[in-house]
Amino acid sequence: MANDTDKLIDLRSDTVTRPSAAMRAAMAAAEVGDDVYGDDPTVNRLQARAAELFGHEAALFAPSGTQANLIALLTHCQRGDEYIVGQGAHTYKYEAGGGAVLGSIQPQPIAHQADGSLALTDIEHAIKPDDFHFARTRLLALENTFGGRVLQPGYTQAANGLAHRRGLATHLDGARICNAAVKLGISLREAVTGFDSVSVCLSKGLGAPVGSVLCGGRAFIDQARRWRKMLGGGMRQTGILAAAGLYALEHNVARLAEDHENAARLARGLSDIAEIKVNAPETNMVFAEIPAAQCCLLEEALRRSGILAQVAPHMRIAFHLDVSRADVDRVAAAFKEFFAG
Ligand SMILES: *Cc1c(COP(=O)(O)O)cnc(C)c1O
Repeated sequence: MANDTDKLIDLRSDTVTRPSAAMRAAMAAAEVGDDVYGDDPTVNRLQARAAELFGHEAALFAPSGTQANLIALLTHCQRGDEYIVGQGAHTYKYEAGGGAVLGSIQPQPIAHQADGSLALTDIEHAIKPDDFHFARTRLLALENTFGGRVLQPGYTQAANGLAHRRGLATHLDGARICNAAVKLGISLREAVTGFDSVSVCLSKGLGAPVGSVLCGGRAFIDQARRWRKMLGGGMRQTGILAAAGLYALEHNVARLAEDHENAARLARGLSDIAEIKVNAPETNMVFAEIPAAQCCLLEEALRRSGILAQVAPHMRIAFHLDVSRADVDRVAAAFKEFFAG
């Protein structure tokens, strides 16, 4: 099973993790059935567990975060409706415009504040009056963490309050909500309080190979299941994958704190390199400004040191359960050697 990239420290994303031996054992031992018939006991357990952890009535296992978010958009909005979303949000910018293409849902993107949030006044101004000239503003979609930054509970509470007062539903793209909860030292349920639906990636820092869960009310999830089927996300003996997700929720949430420590450790390690500027990380991402002329050379030098990274003028370095503290020190040393040379 070993391949060339096994030996590398891979900092490109927190999606690059390989399932551990224990996770693979859980997958191999999973009881399965045909989930399109609702017969897969392991999928049912994952969905029940996710609903419980995130404080919603029900949950649905989806093959990807992109599909979970698209299902949420399609379930909340009808053709000709609109959702308010950040300019840099994954649902708007990085999901190929699925809501518009497949749902005829118009996005209303607005600019982010420096902390990644959407200003409440901007949200308020973006809500269109009930007038036949306009699309019907139906949904507010937020993302936490956003660019590795944590939205504060006071803020999300206020945003949910505003949206609900104005008759909008709310969705949280919580691809990395577990990182936010661990960072804030609050429960997963508290971290998503107030949102009508939330999607959570099992395949990022949590270390599962595949999958997301979408949580919401029972009626919402019943409708969501129809959209998932239409989008081709109805899978059969998928308990094998759900077992990895269950394992991840059981074993890999609290340990995200190690990834946050490793990110902070690298930021400190790089802070005395004059040529680059490193932003203090909040969770598992370090962002560094690299001189454009040196990006290619740095990427090659790192690769020669066994480090895989996408070096760019605004560089993202992601931490996950396949990067150890010793690896962090190797990475810092490789950066220093490059800029000293
Ligand atoms: C990765 C990600 C998604 C989508 O997940 P995929 O499983 O890659 O489709 C959605 N939102 C955010 C914020 C993400 O980082």
